[in-house]
Amino acid sequence: MNLARKLHPMYSYSKINTYFNCPLMFRYRYIDKVKVERFEGIEAFLGKRVHETLEMLYSDLKRHKENSADNLNTYYEDRWNKKYSDAIRIIKKGYCKENYLDMGRKYIADYYKKNFPFTSGTTVSLEQKVNLKLDGHTIIGYIDRLATAKDSIYEIHDYKTSGSLPPQAVLKRDEQLSLYALAVRDMYADAKNIRVIWHYLAFNKEFSYLRTEKELKDVKNSIIKKIGIIEDAKDKGDFLPNASKLCSWCEYQAICPVHKHKFSAENKKNDIYGSGVELVDKYALLKLRKKTISDELDDIRDALIEYCTKNHMSAVESNDYIAKVTESIDVKYPKAGDEKRKELEAYLKKTGLWDKASGLDVFALKRVMKETLLDNRVAEKIKAFSSEETSHKVSLSKKKEGE
Ligand code: SF4
Repeated sequence: MNLARKLHPMYSYSKINTYFNCPLMFRYRYIDKVKVERFEGIEAFLGKRVHETLEMLYSDLKRHKENSADNLNTYYEDRWNKKYSDAIRIIKKGYCKENYLDMGRKYIADYYKKNFPFTSGTTVSLEQKVNLKLDGHTIIGYIDRLATAKDSIYEIHDYKTSGSLPPQAVLKRDEQLSLYALAVRDMYADAKNIRVIWHYLAFNKEFSYLRTEKELKDVKNSIIKKIGIIEDAKDKGDFLPNASKLCSWCEYQAICPVHKHKFSAENKKNDIYGSGVELVDKYALLKLRKKTISDELDDIRDALIEYCTKNHMSAVESNDYIAKVTESIDVKYPKAGDEKRKELEAYLKKTGLWDKASGLDVFALKRVMKETLLDNRVAEKIKAFSSEETSHKVSLSKKKEGE
């Protein structure tokens, strides 16, 4: 067992998730701790500003200070302007900073309207750090808002700013909030029943489920299993890239074998043919030309055969070359799967020719027909299964001197 395993490294849900999204990204981030120029996608930036604003809303409410919707919006815009920098990247084409700023404004305004006057429960804590001990490992995480509802049930609220709405079946299987539920149970003796609640702010929708004992047990087992898989990968050093649409947001593209060509090919010149980008273009062009030439070659070959057939010739000469056209008639037998083939097989077996024909190997059967003295009736019967196909061969040779 290696040292890392003995030390039981700390995990978070996002760390586990990183491995299952892309093992190589996991290695770069958590094992090699590769230092790269970090950038932040604007979606993550927007999410942080919205979370901060809702944190401020509930933090003030705990101190009996009620903010208006306008106050919240001002706070959100202030945080946005203070934090915005050139390190924020907009990956999706056709959108600008203002689009995202506006999205956040709407999320907050909708949430405010829907939940005002915020009396559905009592906030216990905000951005609550949780530590869960699982099979010797510590899982850490942060709960956006922990509250107790009027029915005394503990509630784990999670704010999502994602632009897609997962199907309810996916949410029901979600492991992240269930892990937090296990941690809350350890933290509070009266936390017997725990409800997990997602606020999908872009859709102004809320989903909530009471986690059952069995569900929590299943999640516990599943996470232990997942950590086991990661620890095994660490022992084996097995971290393959898993390219997906998430690559666009990955900060390791410049060193990842799947994507690094985009960063190096244009700069690093190959002495003979040029850069990697030029090589790809040249290769594609030549492949295209090869196909065009091959099609043209087939057309000319067919025209030559037609010319010779029409004029009853078997060869045509130019100044330097001779093209010979040979015609052959090929005997064909029914192919496998054809009903006639089954009949022929049965007939060969009945006449004792099956072995000689090597179980209906077409070449062997042709040899039998040619070389074996067959009874006329048998030969005719087998012939009836066959058909003839005319084919042509064109061979080109350079004329010798004096020819
Ligand atoms: S660029 Fe894609 S494949 Fe490469 S490490 Fe990042 S997520 Fe994995």
